[in-house]
Amino acid sequence: MGAQRIVLKFPHRLVDQPIVYRMVKDFDIEFNILKAYITPREEGLLVLELTGKDDSLEKALKYAKSLGVTVQSLSKDIKRNESKCTHCGACVPICPTGALVTDPLTRKVLFYDTKCIACELCIKACPPRAMELHF
Ligand code: SF4
Ligand code: SF4
Repeated sequence: MGAQRIVLKFPHRLVDQPIVYRMVKDFDIEFNILKAYITPREEGLLVLELTGKDDSLEKALKYAKSLGVTVQSLSKDIKRNESKCTHCGACVPICPTGALVTDPLTRKVLFYDTKCIACELCIKACPPRAMELHF
């Protein structure tokens, strides 16, 4: 038995498909939903903890990938180096989960790490490299 934390990214055309249900039923695995979002582009993002036999997990993820779901391991953590952030806002439209948002009153960029799924998109987008990847 093993457990994996993963991010599943569903393109718009797959958002209403029972893919996780099939993964659980057909491959005999269990899951816990840690986070779930629909992005502004109407993609679905699910952060899951999957439990099951190693080969069952592998087959279930292979099945999801074969349908066009992006599968990413969640073994990393994103932190913001507050001394480097200039609050330029470049990361805000890039973040798919709303973890980086501009405060309408102060115009400062807020980082809600509980919403972050470690997709790493903000790392390249940040001019002073304030968003950092920690393992
Ligand atoms: S892109 Fe970087 S510097 Fe700009 S607001 Fe985001 S974290 Fe801060
Ligand atoms: S890694 Fe960056 S872009 Fe991705 S969810 Fe976290 S804060 Fe948003």
